[in-house]
Amino acid sequence: MKNENGGFTLEGKTALVTGGSRGIGYAIAAGIVDAGGRVIISARNPETLEAAAQKLGTNAIGLSCDVGDPEAITTLIETAWGLGPVDILVNNAGISPFYNRAEHVTVEEFDSVTNVNLRGAYFCSVELARQLFDANRPASIINIASVLGLQPDLRQSVYAMSKAGLIQITKALALEWADRDIRVNCLAPGWITSDMTDSLLESRHGERLLGNIPMGRYGSASEVVGAVLYLASEASTYVTGAVITIDGGRTLR
Ligand code: NDP
Repeated sequence: MKNENGGFTLEGKTALVTGGSRGIGYAIAAGIVDAGGRVIISARNPETLEAAAQKLGTNAIGLSCDVGDPEAITTLIETAWGLGPVDILVNNAGISPFYNRAEHVTVEEFDSVTNVNLRGAYFCSVELARQLFDANRPASIINIASVLGLQPDLRQSVYAMSKAGLIQITKALALEWADRDIRVNCLAPGWITSDMTDSLLESRHGERLLGNIPMGRYGSASEVVGAVLYLASEASTYVTGAVITIDGGRTLR
């Protein structure tokens, strides 16, 4: 039986948000706290992470981790679980460190993106699932992909491929873990202003990118939060393997 607002509360739930120290991840963490949940945020830079956790208040803590390092992921999940069961995982940590045509991409650049965006999200999910199976608990896993995982654009082949892979990880794990009541869903945001995108959106390429958005504007991190609360909460108990675009209509073109 859901509560009167359709089940959107996160009272009593604990979420782990990777890349939660700034941008979209921070907005998601703040939304989770506002909805009554506890949140563990994770990122590489310990100073930014601690400052973000302080700002989020007493229902938040920071655990530093580079999700590009599989051993660090094991430690992160063990430490987080050691604080109490984790009900929600938001695989938000992601990078887009270069904007180059495919013929200029190096092997090192390729690996740096896939190790974080794809392998990182995969093993955060798998490590958490192992804990959940042992404890026989349900959970909601939310992957932050991108519209570029649905439709490629110029100069972003590796990033687009990594996000397409994350969409397929979402569907594959949703299928495998449906019988365990572990739901796995995915968001595909369009252009959202953040540290990751600000210099690109303000560059000479920005005009073309903006021109492709039917709503005629970029999104803000706060506009991603509502869908996370839906997927994280009991409002979506029958939803798994879904991909929700949040893009001002960008994929309609
Ligand atoms: P930001 O660059 O603003 O923030 C990225 C966050 O991830 C920071 O907290 C950063 O902290 C952390 N992070 C980066 N690398 C790692 C790592 N290896 N291990 C752990 N944490 C890491 O990015 P956005 O908020 O813009 O993006 C968040 C997610 O949303 C990404 O997955 C991105 O691909 C996706 N997205 C963004 C869009 C946009 O337009 N902004 C559009 C579609 C999807 P630290 O540097 O300290 O590690």
